[in-house]
Amino acid sequence: MTNRVAIAIGAHPDDIEFNMAGTLLLLKKAGYEIHYLTLASGNCGGAEYDGPTLSTIRNAEARGAAKILGAEFHLCVKNDLEIFYDLDTLRRLAAIIREVKPMVVLTHSPQDYMEDHTNTCRLVVTAAFARGMPNFKTIPSRAIVNSDTVIYHAMPHSLRDPLRRRIIPGAFVNTASVHKTKHAALAAHKSQQKWLDVSQGLNCYLLAMEDMSLAVGRMSRKFKHAEGWRRHLHYGFSAADVDPLREALEKNYQVNKAYERDLEKGT
Ligand SMILES: [Zn+2]
Repeated sequence: MTNRVAIAIGAHPDDIEFNMAGTLLLLKKAGYEIHYLTLASGNCGGAEYDGPTLSTIRNAEARGAAKILGAEFHLCVKNDLEIFYDLDTLRRLAAIIREVKPMVVLTHSPQDYMEDHTNTCRLVVTAAFARGMPNFKTIPSRAIVNSDTVIYHAMPHSLRDPLRRRIIPGAFVNTASVHKTKHAALAAHKSQQKWLDVSQGLNCYLLAMEDMSLAVGRMSRKFKHAEGWRRHLHYGFSAADVDPLREALEKNYQVNKAYERDLEKGT
């Protein structure tokens, strides 16, 4: 594998900044070209504006955040609560995957608190799976790619699945050195501060990110600020079971040995 390209794909503007942006920034420092895509426009994330107006505001905020991260920005393809596991979305997402040709794909957890996140995860997995299948047509049409790709799933919101069970990361990334930039990118989503305070009791979205970052850091027993990841099974994605995050991030990456032991035991 030689294509040092990574893409983070979240459901909504600000999802990437909550629990993926630190790793994305470290990959950039390690020489990766990085890309930023949210599937939905963010049009339902507020009550002060109508949907199209809010989409425009949030699109500008997301562009600003991507600029802070130094990532190439990709335009959303759907609206909030309209991310379904459907063919149209799959074709559009597969086109972006074929264009970007990522070695590393960062996306949501297969278990998360709301369906836009879990549907995004499923769509990303299939779009990446279809990258080399000539009979799967994309919108717009894009040539197939045959390079390997490795998918990493971020920690779910509140670090729990929808049934309240704790999710344990398979690996930790030390994000302390890029935490300020991650914070600045999240703060670029200004429209979300008031909305999340009112709608989800997050108190302050910046503090919520801070808390999650510190909590994953504590789980690592090594890093102060961290992001947690679980690597997708490699079949259909790469020839061998490789871990490009470990290779790229070196001392800032720590495999969770307890998780690996549980995988071996089958528990
Ligand atoms: Zn979201």
